[in-house]
Amino acid sequence: MTRVHNFSAGPAALPEPVLRQAAAEMLDWRGSGMGVMEMSHRGPEFMGIHAEAQALLRSLMGIPPHYKTLFMQGGALAENAILPLNLLNGRRRGRASADYIDTGIWSQKSIAEARRYGVVNVAASAADNGYTRVPDRASWRLDPDADYVHICSNETIGGLEYATEPDVGAGADGPPLVADMSSSILSRPVDVSRYGCIYGGAQKNIGPAGLTIVIVREDLIGHAQPATPTAFDYRVVADNDSMFNTPPTWAIYIAGLVFQWIQAQGGVAAMAERNAAKAALLYGALDASGLYTVPVAPGHRSRMNVVFRLRDERLDAPFLKGAQERGLSQLKGHRSVGGMRASIYNAMPIEGVQALVDWLREFERVHG
Ligand code: PMP
Repeated sequence: MTRVHNFSAGPAALPEPVLRQAAAEMLDWRGSGMGVMEMSHRGPEFMGIHAEAQALLRSLMGIPPHYKTLFMQGGALAENAILPLNLLNGRRRGRASADYIDTGIWSQKSIAEARRYGVVNVAASAADNGYTRVPDRASWRLDPDADYVHICSNETIGGLEYATEPDVGAGADGPPLVADMSSSILSRPVDVSRYGCIYGGAQKNIGPAGLTIVIVREDLIGHAQPATPTAFDYRVVADNDSMFNTPPTWAIYIAGLVFQWIQAQGGVAAMAERNAAKAALLYGALDASGLYTVPVAPGHRSRMNVVFRLRDERLDAPFLKGAQERGLSQLKGHRSVGGMRASIYNAMPIEGVQALVDWLREFERVHG
């Protein structure tokens, strides 16, 4: 068996020890005589797996007690609707509206979906700078009466990431900050108390597709729009401990193993250090070259999704072919933007990034 260095943006590489443990437990989970996929979600075995995964996530992220951790389904795109259905309700000032910050394709999708459920004000847009930097906080035109302020913490396609959590005055009775963290969750410490809600699909830093994580402050729950599907009402999901309907049991089990793995690595702070080193190595090599360019400005670059281009598009195919031959897989950029993208989530070891840097240099020696 040969495993490649997998740079997929998601579903993405998982830590090898997690896959090995899952393989070992596939047919018989700890003497139960059945695999996790075959268990009732209400049986004691799975209830234990579920509770442990919840507890580990809470401890890894330091989630305060007055936040609920919901394990849902539908991915971040469904959450783009579920969130406004639950939180875009005019509860703060009697006028339902929300502020959104546009930093790229994923926030634009969030904006378009939320518009189906209420008034959306685009308070700032990176369109003004060609999506090369997160709009300066001072330029945001925030509505003090908004139900919430929505950001995408890391734009998986454009490679733009918030270097720090923006201050929207949420602590002082301001609108709560809401973040789509699909592609950066657990990659660095986050002060959860600065957010009203954090959500994301699991298939990058957490586990298999099919699980959506929602972390939401308790006081924001319970005011859903009347048309909200019951299974997507945060109140119902929370009251039923994420078991109102059958949860994605296999994905939750793998997520729990990934949480254990992160803990064994030293927790989220240790992951952040490793991720910073990986990103510095890769961006350093790209910046030092005459063949590759990085469209995103320093200080705004994603530590998870490194987006770059070759000077001449005609070199894309030979670059990708040579990469594949060296076991460097899934480097092609998103179909909507082209170029290259190296996703280097938690599970990507620095050796994989070094192998990519070696190939970047070798290719430049021939084609530079
Ligand atoms: N938001 C972000 C930041 C993403 O990276 C993705 C998936 N790549 C999505 C939303 C959509 O997620 P899903 O496919 O799980 O609905």
